[in-house]
Amino acid sequence: MRDALQAAGFEVSKAPGQGGKRDITVAHFAPRGSVRSAPPGRPRTRGVERRALIIGGGTAGCAAAWALAEQGWDSSVFDRHEEPACEGSGNPAGIFHGVVTPDDGVHARWHRAAALAFAPVARAAVREGVRGAVDGLLRLDPDVPGVDDMAARLRRLGLPPEYVQAVSAPQASLLAGMPLAHAAWFYPGGGWIDPRALAAWYLRRAGASVRWHGGEAVMALRRDGDDWVLLSAQGLELARAPTVVLACAGEAARLAGMDTGIVEPIRGRCRSPMRRRCGCRACHWRARAMCCPRWAGSRSSVPPRSGATTQRPCGLPIMPTT
Ligand SMILES: Cc1cc2nc3c(=O)[nH]c(=O)nc-3n(C[C@H](O)[C@H](O)[C@H](O)COP(=O)(O)OP(=O)(O)OC[C@H]3O[C@@H](n4cnc5c(N)ncnc54)[C@H](O)[C@@H]3O)c2cc1C
Repeated sequence: MRDALQAAGFEVSKAPGQGGKRDITVAHFAPRGSVRSAPPGRPRTRGVERRALIIGGGTAGCAAAWALAEQGWDSSVFDRHEEPACEGSGNPAGIFHGVVTPDDGVHARWHRAAALAFAPVARAAVREGVRGAVDGLLRLDPDVPGVDDMAARLRRLGLPPEYVQAVSAPQASLLAGMPLAHAAWFYPGGGWIDPRALAAWYLRRAGASVRWHGGEAVMALRRDGDDWVLLSAQGLELARAPTVVLACAGEAARLAGMDTGIVEPIRGRCRSPMRRRCGCRACHWRARAMCCPRWAGSRSSVPPRSGATTQRPCGLPIMPTT
């Protein structure tokens, strides 16, 4: 273990042990090399012309346009609809929150990073008039035996109360303003938002750095020298640039020339068919739930009357009435 920690960039030392243990291993992350400026296998962006074509103008594409604008990039967003967010992101409301799983695996950590990064963005959007609330979200978990076990799990994982709290059924009922039979995870930074308005807000934020090309379906993507070329149904060139962002949900694999079986559409969403191979009984629920709880730690959520959002076990959010 010591060798593996050192190989991964940790400085390892011994310290006096506790509870009968002679000594323990202490490791501090202290990488010797320089921090990479780009993820492994990805080109560095320094020196690259800062201009990107984004295919898809849902929340992902519009958020990408804004994020690129923040980095000093110009972008053009192409969408087959005239307006942004007419497909998967076209719901009147969407909830957002973190996830707690017993092993704190990649799924839970990814969602935590996203939830923590998104809360301030959502607050800024709501402050500027996007319909929504960032007053916390309750996630009911009928499978966890009780609030004490939930609290013990949070202590074991070291998750702070600013991110998630374990609340009893009476506490959850108080937060929700309605009787709830189960203990719940309470995410103070969670809430709900109008995704279409959010997409429009991202584009407004990007300002003059982004150009919207509505009603332009991209049928193919071709490489020409250093450029990516976007082609219409008639094979005409729509645009070209050195960088392209695929934010077109289920169409992304086809345009990238990848196996289109890696994602499949399900009731307006995309998911990986890999989930089906898990074989756990919970997968039988997939017609009702978004995906297998074993893969996703997934349960569902409702916005409490005090402001927070709550989600029901079936996956459908109960939205606030005001
Ligand atoms: C019923 C339902 C409820 C949901 N609830 C929640 C929720 O509560 N919380 C949550 O976080 N998520 C929720 N989701 C999931 C969430 O809506 C999606 O993950 C998110 O909207 C995906 O955004 P996107 O931009 O990746 O995809 P999309 O919004 O689908 O955007 C893709 C865009 O690409 C465009 N496009 C596709 N192909 C082409 C092409 N060839 N040329 C040009 N344009 C193209 C489409 O027109 C579309 O605008 C829900 C989804 C559904 C369907």
